[in-house]
Amino acid sequence: MFSVLPLQSKVMKILLVEDEQKLARAILTGLSIEGWVTEHATNSQDARLFIDHNDFDIVILDRMLEDGTDGIDICKAMRAKNNMTPVIMLTARNEISDRVDGLDIGADDYLGKPFDFAELNARIRALVRRPNNSVGPLISHGPITIDLSKKEVTNNGDPVSLSKKEYSLLEYLLINQGVTVSKD
Ligand code: CA
Repeated sequence: MFSVLPLQSKVMKILLVEDEQKLARAILTGLSIEGWVTEHATNSQDARLFIDHNDFDIVILDRMLEDGTDGIDICKAMRAKNNMTPVIMLTARNEISDRVDGLDIGADDYLGKPFDFAELNARIRALVRRPNNSVGPLISHGPITIDLSKKEVTNNGDPVSLSKKEYSLLEYLLINQGVTVSKD
């Protein structure tokens, strides 16, 4: 069994959870001009439904929502479910303790209101560029999978630690599966 999963070009999807209609409209307009496909929720119940049924590239979470909930709780729930989609928190509260709260529970960035759309856009691009957010090319053979960009090997999902030489040899053999390779 031999499969290579190359980097896929796909539609980038963003979820905005924001209850201030005017601000939300401005952000959604900016995002669609930037080429993002957007979904919008104004409360945590809708936000959780969207998150559970979609695969977003970025989630933007306002902290104080119309239903009295805090965006932080949505982020916590995502991380508890092992959903590692990058999260940017938005808030009028931008005290240091609030920032720390947000980052502590697994948010990736924190933006205080008011902000320019250009700044939000720059933060989004930084998160999308982050290497751990991209799936590199993978090669698998039976239970063994190699991530070529990270040079990591897993056996049934468990990390396998190999020396540089062993790794290179395994990579070479897997890339050349079915081909007779010289002893060298
Ligand atoms: Ca709000």
